[in-house]
Amino acid sequence: MARVFNFSAGPAALPEAVLKQAQEEMLDWHGAGMSVMEMSHRGKEFMSIAEQAEADLRELMAIPDNYKVLFLQGGASSQFAMVPMNLMAEGDEAEYFLTGAWSKKAIAEAKRYGKVNVVADTSDSKFTTLPEEGSVSFSPDADYVHYTPNETIQGIEFNYVPDTGAVPLVADMSSTILSRPIDVSRFGIIYAGAQKNVGPAGLTIVIVRDDLIGGAGDQVPAMMNYATHAENGSMYNTPPTYSWYLAGLVFAWLKGQGGLAKMGEINQRKAAMLYDAIDASDFYNNPVEKPYRSWMNVPFTLADAELDGRFLEEAAAAGLKTLKGHRSIGGMRASIYNAMPEEGVKALVEFMAEFERTNG
Ligand SMILES: *Cc1c(COP(=O)(O)O)cnc(C)c1O
Repeated sequence: MARVFNFSAGPAALPEAVLKQAQEEMLDWHGAGMSVMEMSHRGKEFMSIAEQAEADLRELMAIPDNYKVLFLQGGASSQFAMVPMNLMAEGDEAEYFLTGAWSKKAIAEAKRYGKVNVVADTSDSKFTTLPEEGSVSFSPDADYVHYTPNETIQGIEFNYVPDTGAVPLVADMSSTILSRPIDVSRFGIIYAGAQKNVGPAGLTIVIVRDDLIGGAGDQVPAMMNYATHAENGSMYNTPPTYSWYLAGLVFAWLKGQGGLAKMGEINQRKAAMLYDAIDASDFYNNPVEKPYRSWMNVPFTLADAELDGRFLEEAAAAGLKTLKGHRSIGGMRASIYNAMPEEGVKALVEFMAEFERTNG
């Protein structure tokens, strides 16, 4: 069977060129006589893979020297706990944006460690809008401010970086990292599960400013302490070696595509093509306020939800897969991360028009 256009929110599509390279290198990586999966993480072959991946990520995102890049496990969900464990002292407080399903989970986890002030809550809008830039004020006494730049389930995305002054800003970038250039120096910590826009599941990227490492209390387990991983080059224990290697192939592929400025242009075009198609029709609808629509995850409903099943079936038959919306939202969701080519979005838009013509 030919490869389909896979609109999964995560684990998500990977660039075909990366999968082919991994296939070619599967049995014998660069003359090592073994697969990357079978190598010691401390051997010189894997060390070279790990170092190249980090160097390429640093170059792509222009990560300043006073930040560590950690290659961890446990997903973004573990970071919901690790952030307060490392940044919040007992009795302290942190501030959180509540803008969708993932920030809600981050808040619930942080509450186990200290006081959480929700500084903005858009639940009344069913998470279809965001606070306007500059409208939220922050306490200078907070240990950090946490937000979710792109809410994967609601398909809503900040079009600005909140200005928190001297208070460190922590961002869950799981579904938007590498989608466009960002100024890393605006953030204290950026973290992301890899399976959306980086590589396979099992790897979690944490980019953390040096002064935010080392503040964890004695009761924090070694594996949950950023200092442990920073001091050991993410090799305190066995890292997810194969996911790290594949992420490295994705970084090299992104460099070959022209880097994040180029990806940003392409991603903006892809999103515009899909939203334009939705807005031009009375049959499809996206509820998110226009300035905050996600470039990465595009939820939409059909005028008649009874047609959802047929839409999904016919789309799948046309090679357009995993379009079912999140179970909490219903309808459809097209995730269009870096690995989704423009032709994939074009094929979806054409299918949608044809489906509307025959069923609308
Ligand atoms: C997918 C996702 C998560 C959860 O990631 P895991 O790696 O499965 O823990 C958290 N935050 C956001 C924004 C996500 O998209």
